[in-house]
Amino acid sequence: MSLADKLAEERRARLAAERLLEQKQAELHAANRKLGTHARALSDEIHETRAEVRTVRDENERVRSDLTLANHKVEVAERRLWLSIETIQDGFAFFDADSRMIAANNSWLGVFEGLEAVTPGVSYVEILQLATEEGIVDIGDTPPRAWRERMLDRWQSPDPEPEVIRLWNGEYVKLVDQRGHGGDVVSLALNITETVRYEQKLQDARRKAEAANRAKSSFLANMSHEIRTPMNGVVGMADLLMDTDLAEEQRLYASTIRNSAEALLVIINDVLDYSKIEADKLVLHEEPFDLERTLHELVLLVQPRARDKGLDVLLDYDILLPTQFVGDPGRIRQVLTNLVGNAVKFTENGHVLIRVVGFRERDSDDMRLHVSVEDTGIGIPADKIDHVFGEFNQVDSDENRKFEGTGLGLAISRRLISLMDGEIWVDSEEGGGTTFGFAITLPLAEAPAPEFRGLSTALRRALVVESHAVTRSVMERQLDLLGVETVSCSSPAEAVSHFTRDLDLVIVDHDMPELDGFDLARRLRDTNSDADILLLTENAVRAEQDTRRGDVQAVLQKPLARSAFFSALQSVARPDVAETPEAGRGDDGTPEAPPLPVVPPDHDARLMRVLAAEDNRTNRLVFKTMLKNLDIDLRFAEDGEQAVALFQSFGPDIIFMDISMPGVDGKEAGRQIRRIEAETAGHVPIVAMTAHAMDGDKDGILAAGIDEYLTKPLRKADLVTMIEKAVTDGMHAPVTGGQAAS
Ligand code: ATP
Ligand code: MG
Repeated sequence: MSLADKLAEERRARLAAERLLEQKQAELHAANRKLGTHARALSDEIHETRAEVRTVRDENERVRSDLTLANHKVEVAERRLWLSIETIQDGFAFFDADSRMIAANNSWLGVFEGLEAVTPGVSYVEILQLATEEGIVDIGDTPPRAWRERMLDRWQSPDPEPEVIRLWNGEYVKLVDQRGHGGDVVSLALNITETVRYEQKLQDARRKAEAANRAKSSFLANMSHEIRTPMNGVVGMADLLMDTDLAEEQRLYASTIRNSAEALLVIINDVLDYSKIEADKLVLHEEPFDLERTLHELVLLVQPRARDKGLDVLLDYDILLPTQFVGDPGRIRQVLTNLVGNAVKFTENGHVLIRVVGFRERDSDDMRLHVSVEDTGIGIPADKIDHVFGEFNQVDSDENRKFEGTGLGLAISRRLISLMDGEIWVDSEEGGGTTFGFAITLPLAEAPAPEFRGLSTALRRALVVESHAVTRSVMERQLDLLGVETVSCSSPAEAVSHFTRDLDLVIVDHDMPELDGFDLARRLRDTNSDADILLLTENAVRAEQDTRRGDVQAVLQKPLARSAFFSALQSVARPDVAETPEAGRGDDGTPEAPPLPVVPPDHDARLMRVLAAEDNRTNRLVFKTMLKNLDIDLRFAEDGEQAVALFQSFGPDIIFMDISMPGVDGKEAGRQIRRIEAETAGHVPIVAMTAHAMDGDKDGILAAGIDEYLTKPLRKADLVTMIEKAVTDGMHAPVTGGQAAS
């Protein structure tokens, strides 16, 4: 091979090598570039990682410091919690689900002072064991084992009831245990010693107060008894004294004794009533009664006193109002007696008007009754009005001091009315008279209002001639209620000018100055009027005997009983039916008592045997003298034992039995007699005589087998009534001739 060839070849080889180099260089370059990029990415990555590491490290730092802070806070909270728990004086402990103590405050642990075993980790069972063994808890007579079992049962119940335990030192602890989540138990031991002591103190105080109250009640009952017993002698003897021949002066003395004794009894009864109301002992005894009749009796009772003073006592009982109600008549009478009594007492001239109106309560047959007592007396000063219903409160002025009384009347009245769920009020003006009123609701004891229809068609126009203004207005009001058109005038002269032909009825007063009622009737007849004429008079007997009686249709007695007035109106309005509607009723509207059976004198009959047991000598004398006119065989027993013995030997037909006697008392004697009778199947009436006026007594006495009950001071009429009730065939009538019960 030539050089050239060799050279060419060499060049070719060099060229190829150069190309290869070039290629390799390009490759190297590319690889370098790639490497550079990679290195850059890698360095970026390192950079990032480093930042991240820094952040994590920071965070770590923060968390660590947060944790330290939190730990610190927890420590503080825990310290504070324990501090608080230690500060409270009550014990506090908690237990885990296995009933092992986790922790407890010093108060809780203090109870076990000195016992090292009581530390966290101790079990409830061990605690109970220690409590009994070391005498920490005062379990009384309960056997320790039984006590522990009971306490453990309680502890294990899902919701333990609080339990009060007494510690050895007399302190009381109330255990309140609460089961929480996971079986943990929080146990509180509250020291309730103060509360328990306070409660005991209260109970003691209450017991003492109750004992004092009982002592007061029995003191009152005893005092009432002590006072009533001799009062029986005073009233009874004065009564008997007045039945004898007495000189005028002696009679005055005797009646003064009697009246003073009666007044004293009223006061005793008032004080007793008041204490009974105070002690919530007073109960109402409800029964059907006649309100109008009660009022009439009351008016009759105060009439003598009123007449002495020249006062008119008038009753305006709503003509449409029924009279039979169910209520406690005794208590209603008591209120009325005081109101009417006050009105008469505090009025020097004018009148006292009792007015009764009533309304049917909605949706029931009960009646709302309004009773008012109006007087024209001294009145009550405005600043004393609220004061008069208080206990022992009287308007104390020169004017007032001359009136007697204790000042209890209105206080009792108010209490009684409120017991009846009613209201009582007063309206007064000093010097201008007073009106007291009360309203109560009572059930009706009779068919509602009588039939009034027809009256107003037959009676259209009436003329009332009455000089007394209040009577006139009462009459006017009543006629008005019946739908009768009424003209009224105060003098005969005025009346004459009203004589018109269309008058159906004229009511004239008997006693009028100038022209009396009969004369006026004559004048009316002279006008050819055919009006019916009713004459009102104070003295019906005299009027009935008057020769001019024929000029009037009816004579009506004042004070006018509402039912008498109504029957008179009916008889003039409907003469054909007027005879019957009120049949069976007295002229004051009250049912007439059936006639007494007439017992023919029987000479073979034996005397009635009456036994009276009474330990007080004076009272035996009173008793004997009261019955001295009776045809009876009377024996006395001086105590209960004698009474029982005489019951067997004497065989009485009736026994009067004093209740408090030495030895065997009346109740016991009554029981013994009933026991003896149980074998013979007899039954002698026994009437208790007692000076006890407390309510409960009555039941106690009746429970001893006693049939009837009389309160001292005894009244002759009551004794006679009891004796007459016990009369049977074959006995001589105890009351003969004209010596009826009086
Ligand atoms: P007691 O009723 O106990 O016998 P009393 O009548 O004085 O005594 P209350 O009925 O309670 O007692 O009356 C209290 C007082 O109210 C009376 O003392 C009197 O001052 C006054 N008072 C009562 N009613 C009237 C009246 N109708 N007019 C004027 N004052 C009256
Ligand atoms: Mg009074």
